[in-house]
Amino acid sequence: MANKIIIITAPSGSGKTTLVKRLLTACPNLSFSISACTRSPRSGEINAKDYYFFDEQKFRQLIDEDAFVEWEMVYPGKYYGTLRSELQRIWDSGKTPLVDIDVQGALAIRDRYPSIAFTIFIEAPSLEELRRRLVHRGTETEFSLNERISKAEQELTFAPQFDRILINEHLNIATGELITMAEQFLAVE
Ligand code: 5GP
Repeated sequence: MANKIIIITAPSGSGKTTLVKRLLTACPNLSFSISACTRSPRSGEINAKDYYFFDEQKFRQLIDEDAFVEWEMVYPGKYYGTLRSELQRIWDSGKTPLVDIDVQGALAIRDRYPSIAFTIFIEAPSLEELRRRLVHRGTETEFSLNERISKAEQELTFAPQFDRILINEHLNIATGELITMAEQFLAVE
């Protein structure tokens, strides 16, 4: 199969993590692309599974070595990036990388691989619902909550640039829609 990439973007709190997990279970030809980042692991997160957790010095060294397809300071002082070696690792295994990344990163990868990338934007039904879900998740301070909400507001304006927009109102329905989108893209020669 020709190399392809599926890129999923969503403001945090839109249910993306659950949807991505379900998609990966349903489509064994997809493999999660593990990003690199400089934030600290959250409880339960594992290095080289959820992210490659690097300190800033190592991350900057990788930037200098041109190791990233894209990288970005997503939050003040916190770098995130997609390693070329990670995409290649997945292609070499005969699978398609599923890249879960923010808007700027998604558009940067799409522009790098325009003919093989499929971009999906996942939205919560509203910003109020997004805030409610983030508060419920309980991982944010008041400061980081507001940071994520304002980033979400700004990200929503980019949704029309994606191949598909998926509104996650009912998780099971959205899951089915997402799996169908991915399968259709993977089926095209
Ligand atoms: P979190 O800290 O909640 O895991 O992720 C914060 C944000 O960074 C999310 O919007 C996530 O999609 C984004 N992100 C994760 N990996 C990458 C990456 O490789 N590159 C970029 N540009 N953003 C990423």
